[in-house]
Amino acid sequence: MKAIVIGGGIGGMSSAIALEKSGIDVEVFEAVKEMKPVGAAISIWPNGVKCLNALGMKTALRELGGNMAYMAYHDGTTGAPLTRFSMAPLVQQVGEYPCPVARAELQAMLIDTFGRERVQFGKRVIQVEQTSSGVIATFSDNTQATGDFLIAADGTHSVIREYVLEQKLERRYAGYVNWNGLVTIDERIAPADQWTTFVGDGKRVSLMPVSGNRFYFFFDVPLPKGLPQDRSTVKADLTGYFQGWAEPVRQLIAAINPDTTNRVEIHDIEPFSRFVKGRVALLGDAAHSTTPDIGQGGCAAMEDAVVLASTLASHSLGIEDALLRYQARRVERVKDLVLKARKRCDVTHARDPAITAEWYDSLKSETGERVLAGMCETIEGGPLG
Ligand code: FAD
Repeated sequence: MKAIVIGGGIGGMSSAIALEKSGIDVEVFEAVKEMKPVGAAISIWPNGVKCLNALGMKTALRELGGNMAYMAYHDGTTGAPLTRFSMAPLVQQVGEYPCPVARAELQAMLIDTFGRERVQFGKRVIQVEQTSSGVIATFSDNTQATGDFLIAADGTHSVIREYVLEQKLERRYAGYVNWNGLVTIDERIAPADQWTTFVGDGKRVSLMPVSGNRFYFFFDVPLPKGLPQDRSTVKADLTGYFQGWAEPVRQLIAAINPDTTNRVEIHDIEPFSRFVKGRVALLGDAAHSTTPDIGQGGCAAMEDAVVLASTLASHSLGIEDALLRYQARRVERVKDLVLKARKRCDVTHARDPAITAEWYDSLKSETGERVLAGMCETIEGGPLG
C-alpha cells in the first residue's frame, strides 16, 4: 500500500513517519524548494510530545526542548508579578514534559527522521483526482504521482481542502498581530527556566526558553488586519505599541533582531466535520486551523498523524473505511481545540475589555491550580492520554 503525502510541514512529516512505521510506503511532496518555517518556535505540549515519542523521536526531541519549569504572569506596565507557579504538577499528572523548541530545528528533526533525500521539494500540487482504486496528484511542473491514498497536509491555505469539501472556506481574522522570534537568554528580562508573560490592554509579551540558551519571544497586539508591514520599522512599531511598559519589555524590544522577527496576522477557520473524501484525507492545519492561543495547532497535527497510522494499520478494513475512522476519531477533538483557543484568544486580547480585566484580576489569586487543570484537560484529551 502506498500513501502520497502532500506538504512537508509538521503534519506532513509526522504522518509520513507514522505511516511508514505502520508498514505503508510513503512519498512526500513539498511545494517549496527550501523549508522556511513562518514562526520562530513552538511549544509542544505533552500530548504532542507523546506522539513524537511514539514515532521514535523521544531522544532527539529532548535535546531541542527548553526547560520550562515555571510559569509566571506579570503586569505589563508595572512589571509586578501577578502569579508564579511550578509546572511540576502538570508533569506529574500527564507523565510528560512540555517541550518548547525552535521551529526550524523541529522541522529538521522531522525531515531527517523520515530521510531528507526522500522528500521531494519544489513539487506544488495543483490537482487531485481519484479512481475506485487509487489517487493521482498533479504538480505545477506537469508531473504526476500515484498512490493508494493521499494525505493533504498542505497547511491552512490548503488547495486540497476545497477538493474535499467541494467549497472554499475563508479564514477568520482573530483580531491581533503576533511578532515572534528568538533571542539570547537574558535573566534581566526573565528567568531562564520559566515561561514568562507580561499582560495589559489586551496585549501580551511572552518569553519561553528553548535549547541553546535562547528565549522564544512573542508580542501580541490587537490591531486591524492589513496594516503595512516593514522590517525596518519593527522596533519602532513595538516601542510604540508598548509605550510605558515595564523595563524587561523595553529590554526585550532593544534585544530583538528585526531581520529574524516574524509578523503574523492571526487567523483560524470555523471548525468543519468532513476531513475525508474517498481516498483523500485532510490533516493538520488543512483540516483544522486554530489561533495559537493554547499552543495546540502543531500538537493536533501530530495527534492526527498517530491516529491516522493506527486506523490504517488495520487496513484490512479497506482504505476508505479506515480514513473515515480517522475522521471520526479526530473531528470532535480538534473542534474542541480550535474553539478553546478562540475563547482564550478573545479573553487574552480584550475582545470584551471587562472580561479581560477580570482575568487579569484573577491572576493575582492564581496558585497554578486552575491554569494547570485546564492544560491537563487539553493534554489528556489527546489520543495517547
Ligand atoms: P504547515 O506547517 O503550514 O505545513 C504545510 C506545508 O505544506 C508547507 O510546508 C507548505 O509549503 C506545503 N504546501 C502548501 N501548499 C502545498 C501544495 N499545493 N503542494 C505541496 N505542498 C504544499 N502549534 C503548537 O502546537 N504550539 C505552538 O506553540 C504554536 N505556536 C504557533 C504560533 C504562531 C504564531 C502560529 C502562526 C502557529 C502556531 N502553532 C503552534 C500552530 C502550528 O504552527 C501549525 O498548526 C502547524 O505548523 C501546522 O502544520 P501543518 O503541517 O499542518 O501545516
